[in-house]
Amino acid sequence: MNIQQLSKRLETVVSYIPKQSKIADIGSDHAYLPCYAVNKGIASSAIAGEVVKGPFLSAKKQVEDAQLTQEVEVRLGNGLEVIAPGEVECITIAGMGGTLIASILEAGKDKLTNEPRLILQPNVSAKSIRTWLMDNEWDLIGEEILEEDDKLYEILIAEKGNPKGHYSKDIEKELLLGPFLMKEKNSAFIKKWNQELHQWKNILNNMERAEKTEALEQRKNELKEKIKMVEEVLNP
Ligand code: SAM
Repeated sequence: MNIQQLSKRLETVVSYIPKQSKIADIGSDHAYLPCYAVNKGIASSAIAGEVVKGPFLSAKKQVEDAQLTQEVEVRLGNGLEVIAPGEVECITIAGMGGTLIASILEAGKDKLTNEPRLILQPNVSAKSIRTWLMDNEWDLIGEEILEEDDKLYEILIAEKGNPKGHYSKDIEKELLLGPFLMKEKNSAFIKKWNQELHQWKNILNNMERAEKTEALEQRKNELKEKIKMVEEVLNP
């Protein structure tokens, strides 16, 4: 991967950036995404945010090497604290856990008052993001799931709006599996949830052999409920 050739995962994230918008890529690491988006004329300019000094310095070097210092600004800081309210029209956050992405959005709510498009790519726990979006009145307008190098990635796109606009009646199930993804049920989706089911059933088997406690029974019931929800979608 480099600034000319992104991974399929990051290229899919970029494909949802509104044309000619100013973007912020939070947790940018090597700054491949903002450099690529600006180079291709997709983003008009970009801020690359990084909280860790090492990746911050490598992002700076990448931008200098690509001669994009006029268009891509690299800033050191935690989450959305690197941007001012209203400064960007689109925010990308990719390659972290869903819980961390949701906590970055929660801590930086005051930076979202101009309602930028959010393009979020959690490595795990997309449910935490869907839940945050719903609780904070963001409309999940699209989702993707894809496989690359034997890993499965989800991408969530949101804009400020009706938080239940794309959900139907079974919200718990849709928060877990994704309202768009569970309708499309592509091969990556089926693979992901079969893997999860396999893992959960193993955990449940181990729990069955452990000493019974109230807490364990509750965990078992929660797990059984999740297994049921996923099986209903995979084998309707
Ligand atoms: N976004 C790139 C991608 O998807 O390929 C890099 C992903 S990398 C695994 C995660 C990056 O997020 C790391 O460089 C880490 O330092 C950064 N990060 C983690 N928490 C952060 C936070 N609260 N604010 C800014 N950056 C953060």
